[in-house]
Order: sequence, then C-alpha cells, then structure tokens
Amino acid sequence: MSIVVNLTQIIENINSAVSRRNSRLINGSKDVKLVAVTKNHEVAAIREAVAAGVIAIGENRIQEATQKAQILKEHVEWHLIGHLQTNKVRPAVQLFDLIHSVDSEKLAIEIDRIAGALGKRQDVLIQINMANEDTKFGIASKNALALGTFISKLEHVRLCGVMTIAPFYEDIEQARPLFRNMYQLFMELKNVNLANTNIEWLSMGMTNDYIVGVEEGSNLVRIGTGIFGQRQY
Ligand SMILES: *Cc1c(COP(=O)(O)O)cnc(C)c1O
Repeated sequence: MSIVVNLTQIIENINSAVSRRNSRLINGSKDVKLVAVTKNHEVAAIREAVAAGVIAIGENRIQEATQKAQILKEHVEWHLIGHLQTNKVRPAVQLFDLIHSVDSEKLAIEIDRIAGALGKRQDVLIQINMANEDTKFGIASKNALALGTFISKLEHVRLCGVMTIAPFYEDIEQARPLFRNMYQLFMELKNVNLANTNIEWLSMGMTNDYIVGVEEGSNLVRIGTGIFGQRQY
C-alpha cells in the first residue's frame, strides 16, 4: 500500500469518527490535525506524505528530527512526541513547534529558560499517564491541574493542551473509558481559564486506537505505522 492510499483512508476514517462524535462533544476545535509520525523512516517518506497534504511531522528523538529537518526543504510543523530530557531542551526548543511530552516542573522550567534565551515562546502539552503504567512517562491525571497552573506562570512557555499514550489493547474498545477521562480532564483544564494558556489540543490516538480517540474528542492524532507501514529498527 502506498503512503497516499493509506493517508486517504485515514482521513476518511477520521472524518467519519468526527461526524459520529460531534453531537455529543464540544471541544472547541472540531478539526482534527493529523501528525504523521516519521521516526525510523527516511526523509523520502516524509516528502511523500507532505506532497499528499500532511503538514505536521512527529518525531520522538531530537537528533533524528534535527538531521531530517536540515535535509527537508518543505516547510512543516515539527512535533516532539517522545520523552524530553532536560539536557536536550535546547535543540528541542530550536526545532519543535509543539512539544507533546512535558511531565515535570523541572522540565518546564528548563524549557522556559532556553526559550527565553532563544527569544521564543514554546508551545507545549502536558503528557498524562492515564493508565498509571510504570513503563510510560507522563504525570498522573490528578496532578495535571497543578502542573498546568505552574506552567501558566512561565513567561516563555505556552500550555496548549494535554497528550496521552493509551496502553496497547487488542480490543481498542478498552481504550475508550480512558480516552473519555482524558477528554474530561482536557475540558476541566480549559474551563479553569488559566492565564497565558491556549488550551486547544487534545493529543490522543495512534494507529491502533485513533478512531476511538477521535470519537472521544481527540483533535490531534499521531499516526506512524498506519501511514508508513512497519518501522525497521
Ligand atoms: C511512535 C509513536 C506514535 C505512532 O505510533 P504508531 O503506532 O506507529 O501509529 C504515536 N505517539 C507516540 C508518542 C509515539 O512514540
């Protein structure tokens, strides 16, 4: 299957998932943005996706993304979807339009410091570990408001929403309750009206579970395998 064919099918699936949810949910932004996850794929694959209409590229390693960005001529949005260590914040802030994976005050402070030095306001999401898995990064949902409040006071960081990675379920219906809770959390964060924030993105859904994610209110899906096929490691 080609990248274009895969993308066409995914967009169709997203649109029908949106039409199934709209009567139930109001989440500020009805449009769903697709982040094409290109980790472990060549720049040629990114080009093909961009030619087919993709505008946002997701990577989880700073170095790999930076190298690709140097080669890629096309203008795209760069999204950091993987864990960010404090010692890699500088190159991350230099490249990424949106960092999906902020999960501590310490990291937020470092992003603020570097962004200030670079004269940038860095857009970020808070990563939530909804299923409380030991193997995943992210904060517990009960701590989201506190971290959001903390970030809202940082001058060079702008909180734009929340992100989660669901556990891998054979039966994707099992992700639904977790996505529902995530939508609630997103709306709570939006409704507290924190100063200096722009809570607009609910980043949830990958190849395996994006349809359920969108049905439950996601407006930012991160899809790799479904577009590019299996990754070679
Ligand atoms: C790799 C990755 C994705 C994409 O996963 P696929 O199953 O290939 O769609 C999405 N989000 C994060 C955080 C990832 O690391």
